[in-house]
Amino acid sequence: MANGTQNGSRQSHTRGGSSDALLAAIVDSSQDAIISKDLDGTVTSWNKAAEKMFGYAAQEALGRPIMLIIPPERLHEEVEIMVQIGRGERIEHFETQRKHKDGRLVDVALTISPVKDDSGRVIGASKVARNISDQKRNAELRGLLAAIVDSSDDAIISKDLNSIITSWNFGAERIFGYKSEEVIGRPIWMLFPPDRIEEERQILGRIKRGERVDHFETLRMRKDGSLVEISLTISPIFDANGRVVGASKIARDISERRRSERAMQVVRMELEHANRQLKDFAGELESRVLQKTREVEASRQDWEAFGYSVSHDARGHLRTIMNFTAMLQQQLRNKLSSEEKDYFDRIERAAERMRLMIDGVLAFTKVVQTDIQLRPVSVDEVVASIVEGNADLQSPAVRLQILEPLGQVLADPAGLYQCLANLLTNAAKYVPQDTAPTIVVRTESRGDFLRIWVEDNGIGIPEEEQAHLFQMFQRLNNARHYEGTGLGLAIVKRAAERMGGRVGVQSRPGQGSQFWIELKQPERTR
Ligand code: ADP
Repeated sequence: MANGTQNGSRQSHTRGGSSDALLAAIVDSSQDAIISKDLDGTVTSWNKAAEKMFGYAAQEALGRPIMLIIPPERLHEEVEIMVQIGRGERIEHFETQRKHKDGRLVDVALTISPVKDDSGRVIGASKVARNISDQKRNAELRGLLAAIVDSSDDAIISKDLNSIITSWNFGAERIFGYKSEEVIGRPIWMLFPPDRIEEERQILGRIKRGERVDHFETLRMRKDGSLVEISLTISPIFDANGRVVGASKIARDISERRRSERAMQVVRMELEHANRQLKDFAGELESRVLQKTREVEASRQDWEAFGYSVSHDARGHLRTIMNFTAMLQQQLRNKLSSEEKDYFDRIERAAERMRLMIDGVLAFTKVVQTDIQLRPVSVDEVVASIVEGNADLQSPAVRLQILEPLGQVLADPAGLYQCLANLLTNAAKYVPQDTAPTIVVRTESRGDFLRIWVEDNGIGIPEEEQAHLFQMFQRLNNARHYEGTGLGLAIVKRAAERMGGRVGVQSRPGQGSQFWIELKQPERTR
């Protein structure tokens, strides 16, 4: 079978049949594919629109079976078509699918007419195929949009510029209670509470200017007359020429949201109220605690003052007792039996213990009662002056190792003296009989603070007893064989705290103790 155009023109591609230039021009300029075929189904003409619609150039299609563009599952259609054509019948607007050269299906509407020879015999068929893919896609899209509109919980309503309702979805039916046939063609203000009719004029004004109204919260009236709180979004609808022809409204029922907002508001207010009450209560509690603290502090100060004056008087009486005892002993010097001498010794020892205790209480009350002034103090100097005035801290009594320079702290000089003197004398005192005391004094910078360590090689302290050490009159089991009052460490703790510091200890029985006191360092030495 020969391919090619009968008249050789590039404009029209025909094989067999009659054609003249005009007809060819019409066929070529058609938007529809115009194809003819003979009774065997062989393509005999193929216009430009057919080239475009099915992807085959005329040269490729002419002389080939029409099957070329029929999807295999639709081949039976062709048989039926040819039967009808054979009977001389025409087929109008037959919607089907054909296959593009690249394999994609094209939605087409076919009109097929028999081609007859002069004697009226059917010799072939001419097909006009219109591409309806876009049309179909649009119809599908419209269907999809309609489904979205219908399934929306929001009311979607459209109206024209006279405020006449033109569409009404299920959401609108649900929110306002009217069926679409009850509202379409009626004015939108049937949904307005009487006092809000004015709103429509304003909304319409904006819509006519092509503006959109977003999230406008208002009230509308249901069919049963009840009010519903809604949030409205209204957009203009334009025609093909860009003129505003109406408006589409989306109304969301916000009654529920408003109800929960109001409930939230109530909860918030309740919470604020409770919070205020709690604050008042906390304030009252705080002032009560403050009051109580003041009372406790006042009574503590009373007790301390009392302790001081009693100790002070007691020291006077004790001195009298000691003096008279000494005088008596002096006068009876040669007349005393050894038993009586023993009594005097006991009185002296008891009086000495009493003196130590009274001095301790006085030192303690002094520490807690006197005003202290913090200033930079050289730890080296304080340690040196303690050692200088105390033979028990000097060689050969002890081996004292001072890791100089010890540095400076912010302290009250007398307070620091008292603390370190207590720690040093304890370090020299609490050693086993057969051991030569070795004491190490060193310091360690810890941020803003300086920690002063006093370490000994003494008897040590069991861990469970370390917590009580710094309380008044606490003497541990390990102190049975040593003189003391149990006041020294209480004084150290109170004095350190009054100077803004802390105290502590690390120790193990039989392995010595490391006491420390930590005080702030003057700023320039940090
Ligand atoms: P005192 O030494 O007068 O008994 P302190 O308050 O100075 O009172 O000490 C309280 C107790 O802590 C002491 O009785 C002793 O049991 C124990 N202690 C203090 N320092 C040391 C130390 N360096 N080594 C072992 N035990 C100590």
